[in-house]
Amino acid sequence: MNQTHFSMTRITKILIANRGEIAVRIIKTAHLLNIKTVAVYSEADRLAPHVRLANEAVLLGPPPSSESYLIEEKIIEAAKATGANAIHPGYGFLSENAGFAKKVADNNLIFIGPSPEAIEVMGSKLAAKHAVSKYDIPMVPGTDKAIQDPEEAKVIAKKIGFPILIKASAGGGGKGMRVVNNEGELEENMARAISEAESSFGDGSVFIEKYITSPKHIEIQVLGDQHGNVIHLFERECSVQRRHQKVVEEAPSPVVSEEMRNRMGQDAINTAKACGYYGAGTVEFIVDEAMNYYFLEMNTRLQVEHPVTEEISGVDLVEQQILVAQGEALQIKQEDLTINGHALELRLYAEDAEDNFMPDTGTLNVYKRPSGPGVRVDDGFDEGMEVPIYYDPMIAKLIVHGSNRTEAINKMIQAINDYKIEGIKTTLSFGKFVFEHPEFQNGSFTTKFVESHFSPEKLKLGKQNEKLAAAIAAAMFFEKDNAIPKISNDENLGWNSRMQ
Ligand code: ADP
Repeated sequence: MNQTHFSMTRITKILIANRGEIAVRIIKTAHLLNIKTVAVYSEADRLAPHVRLANEAVLLGPPPSSESYLIEEKIIEAAKATGANAIHPGYGFLSENAGFAKKVADNNLIFIGPSPEAIEVMGSKLAAKHAVSKYDIPMVPGTDKAIQDPEEAKVIAKKIGFPILIKASAGGGGKGMRVVNNEGELEENMARAISEAESSFGDGSVFIEKYITSPKHIEIQVLGDQHGNVIHLFERECSVQRRHQKVVEEAPSPVVSEEMRNRMGQDAINTAKACGYYGAGTVEFIVDEAMNYYFLEMNTRLQVEHPVTEEISGVDLVEQQILVAQGEALQIKQEDLTINGHALELRLYAEDAEDNFMPDTGTLNVYKRPSGPGVRVDDGFDEGMEVPIYYDPMIAKLIVHGSNRTEAINKMIQAINDYKIEGIKTTLSFGKFVFEHPEFQNGSFTTKFVESHFSPEKLKLGKQNEKLAAAIAAAMFFEKDNAIPKISNDENLGWNSRMQ
């Protein structure tokens, strides 16, 4: 593969074109490597930790991202004005914008990420499928090109069988998908999907996939350099989702065998090779009940859930991104990597799980992080700060690492109990519901988990039980340590019975 954006320049100062927890995360590693940092911020983020932690900070403009974090010229100008020689885009915002990556390079700055060409190919789900078609990577049955005509869609849908999923080729973040259960629903859904794709992504291309009714979402972390080396850092299981968006992630997956991991890993490496990929990337698969896996897409950036991989592999992915962007060859060999223990992550969204996960805003009147061995909090807020309405509602990620899955789950529940947040609704109690649920504990959960098991009533009931338990505990001078829920030895069913 032709490595057109090869460079051997040492990175001395990084501008982080992002905010919140991911900006803080990147600054921390940059400083460990003795690299200076420049934060950018909007008027809503004047007091944000990423602004304070960076060596310098540049105001971009008013709060809306379209007037601040998304203005490419201002960001490049800020990098030049401060003498930064590299830009890290984080995730979201401009991270998967091929045009921006190219502009950065055209201005003699290093883009900490893959080449614009790789971003472009993988940014389109259809182009991505086409790119990997030369390898024998399993695909979800469906169309391999954009489709407009409802009559043609009907023929294809009948062939693959309902239910089907209409997807926007340019879609992302769980948006632009429509499940169609029968022929009668097809025409209207298709028209809607096309117009939604046009208005949300500026590209009305849609295609059809077989809708896998109850799959698992399992993805592989890859890392490539500019010399053609690509390795994988095992899988992450991200099946607990709401609105097709992840809330809980873990590594490794409780159902993936060594043999399956190797196969998926090799397919992920081939996917990366198909587009000359370098930097950190993620190849996403869905897995059906018979443990067949299918390629979904590749994300050409650092993922929100990257910490669980860092915890089990001992690799700092941001450090690797920086080294690769400098033109260094990967020092880690596939055979050097082993899985150490188990890691879990809960995304703390400012959302009301009792009200259909509606975003909530307000002030973090009380904000006390849990701590302890194997407990990590990646966040971008402090006590007393306001959570602005303008951006993604994720305020923090709670990550735990244990020597095995049971230990990690117990540690997570303890950390959730220790996390004190007041003034804003979060997904903290929802997380507790998940980690205490037998189906999560036995590993058989799928992307249908929230829909099948969660209801606001259950959460309320949980809270009432908690109050009752607290009252009983107080009355009996119950020792705190004894209150840690133990993982039940529920009979392993479904997914778990197949994992051996
Ligand atoms: P996005 O780019 O919007 O994140 P993905 O293709 O990665 O879209 O899919 C997001 C989620 O949607 C998956 O994790 C899965 O839960 C669901 N999904 C996607 N494709 C299918 C499918 N063919 N069948 C069932 N669920 C699917």
